[in-house]
Amino acid sequence: MISRMFFALGMAALMLAPFSSCASGRAPATGSATDGHRVPAAIAHAAAASKPAAAQTHASPAVSLANAFSGRQAYAYTRAVVDFGPRPPGSAAHRRMVAYILANLRQDHARIVQDRFTAHTPKGPMPENNIIAKFGPRTGQILVLCGHYDTKIEKFHFVGANDGGSSTGLPLEAAAVLAKHPLQVPVWVVFLDGEEDVVHWTRTDGTYGSRQLAALWRTQGVAPRIHALILVDMIGDKNLDIGRETQSTQWINDFVASAAEKLGYSKYFFQNSIAIEDDHLAFLHVGIPSVDLIDATYGPGNRNVFGRWWHSPRDTMDKLSPHSFRVVGRTVMQTLQMLARQ
Ligand SMILES: [Zn+2]
Repeated sequence: MISRMFFALGMAALMLAPFSSCASGRAPATGSATDGHRVPAAIAHAAAASKPAAAQTHASPAVSLANAFSGRQAYAYTRAVVDFGPRPPGSAAHRRMVAYILANLRQDHARIVQDRFTAHTPKGPMPENNIIAKFGPRTGQILVLCGHYDTKIEKFHFVGANDGGSSTGLPLEAAAVLAKHPLQVPVWVVFLDGEEDVVHWTRTDGTYGSRQLAALWRTQGVAPRIHALILVDMIGDKNLDIGRETQSTQWINDFVASAAEKLGYSKYFFQNSIAIEDDHLAFLHVGIPSVDLIDATYGPGNRNVFGRWWHSPRDTMDKLSPHSFRVVGRTVMQTLQMLARQ
C-alpha cells in the first residue's frame, strides 16, 4: 500500500491527501501462458525440474531486453496471482503466492534470497517475506527492479489486480527475460512484502517490507553498491498514465523518459508530476537512487484522488490490459539496459 500526496501539473486545484495504495502474478512460463490460468506451484516446480538451465551468457549488445519482454506474459502472471484471491501477509493465499513466485524464480535459475522478518503492526506481529532474485554477475554496481506483492486487508473481497497484482506480474516477466539475457551488471528483482497499511497509513504503518530491506542493505553495506532502483506500482491500468514522481531520483527518471521515447511510448510517461509516498522512499532514505513508476489515476472520478477502482472491489483484471504491461515492461527493460551501459 501507499500513502500518497498527489498533484498534477496543469490542474486548477492542488490536491493533497493522505493515501494508501499499492499495486502485482506469474503464469506458466511454458505452454498456455497467455490463457491466464495459474499453474499450481507444485506443477510449476515440477516443470522447472525438467526445464533446461537458462543460458547464463552475458547479453550481447544486439539483444534488446525490451523486445524480449512479453506484455501478455506479464498480464498472465498477474492473473495467476490474482486468482489466489486476497493476499495480505499471514494469509494462506499469501503463502501459496510465495510458493508460486519461488517456483517461477527457480525455473529462471535465479539466485534467491528470502528476507523473512516480523513486521510490528498495530494489530500485532506479522510474518512477512521480501524475496530477492539475483541475475547476472555477483560483483559490480547493482540495478534493482522491485514491486510489492501483498494486498491490502479490506472488509470486502479485495484481489488487488492492479494494486499488488501488476507489481508482481511485471517483475516475474522481467525475471524470465533476465534469466535468458543477463546484463553485464548484477540485476536484482525484488518482491516486496507489506507495502499496505494494516490499520491506517502512517510512517510506521505501511511499507514494512521496503523499510526492513533498506535497513538490511544499509547494515550489510549493500546500499552504496546499488546504482539505481526502479519501483513499479499500479502499472497495468488500461488507461495508462505514469506520472513523474517528484521525490524520485530525477536522473533515473530521465533515463526512463529517454527509453520511453526510443520505444515510441512518450505519451504514456510523465505527462504530469505527482508526489507519492511509496516503497521507494525507504530506499532513498538510505542513499539509494530510486524512482517510483506509478499510475496514480485508476478508474473514473476522484475517489481519494486515486480513482474509483483504487482500494475497491473493482480492482480486477478487466481494468488492466496486456498492452499497458507491454509499455511499462519494455520501457523498464530498455532503461535497465541503458543504465547497465553507463
Ligand atoms: Zn494499495
